[in-house]
Amino acid sequence: MPIAPKLVILDRDGVINQDSDQYIKSLDEWVPYPSAIDAIAWLSRNGWTVAVATNQSGVARGYFDERVVDAIHARLNALVEGAGGKIEQIVYCPHEPADNCHCRKPKAGLLETIRDRLGLADLARSWMVGDSLRDLQAGEAIGCRSALVRTGKGRDTEAKGEGLQHARVFDDLATFVGWLINDAQADSLDSSPPAGTPDAAMDEGASLAATRTSPLNHPPAS
Ligand SMILES: [Mg+2]
Ligand SMILES: [Zn+2]
Repeated sequence: MPIAPKLVILDRDGVINQDSDQYIKSLDEWVPYPSAIDAIAWLSRNGWTVAVATNQSGVARGYFDERVVDAIHARLNALVEGAGGKIEQIVYCPHEPADNCHCRKPKAGLLETIRDRLGLADLARSWMVGDSLRDLQAGEAIGCRSALVRTGKGRDTEAKGEGLQHARVFDDLATFVGWLINDAQADSLDSSPPAGTPDAAMDEGASLAATRTSPLNHPPAS
């Protein structure tokens, strides 16, 4: 079965799991948000392909090795599969800024890898969801629509306000997914970039996020 071009790419830390300024250096330090696991499963059950793109410079800095990253991603996959969903691709950048690689976000290398592995011609119908500006920049650099979540570093990113002209803003991943599945599907399939001025698009996203009380907007409880 071909991969549907309905793709959501997620940052990991601060979107799927609690973030840490001290890096997430072991499986024990990786604490997922239960609502995010359910939201990922909910996306895949609704015909969306889900991928994860994460900067893990702690590898290059020597704080943990790639076996730790692999173990965390194995647990993430198991949790999502246990909730009835699937993550199609997880890619990460192990470098630090001084390496000047092409994969570390805000560069688009990780997203190019996802695009190519899924055999997609482009990511124009895809979403990049993150809590940091560099996530949104990586997505926008390759033509994705972008969504900021207020978990992790998201509130700080929103407060700085810089570079958010094209991003919709949501309280968390579950709120974004509820909006995407219930309110935005036709838009995301039928048109190119979000309609309206960038400011209007952001206000709309914010107000939709604020009115997420409909039961339809919540993923099923696990
Ligand atoms: Mg993050
Ligand atoms: Zn890299």
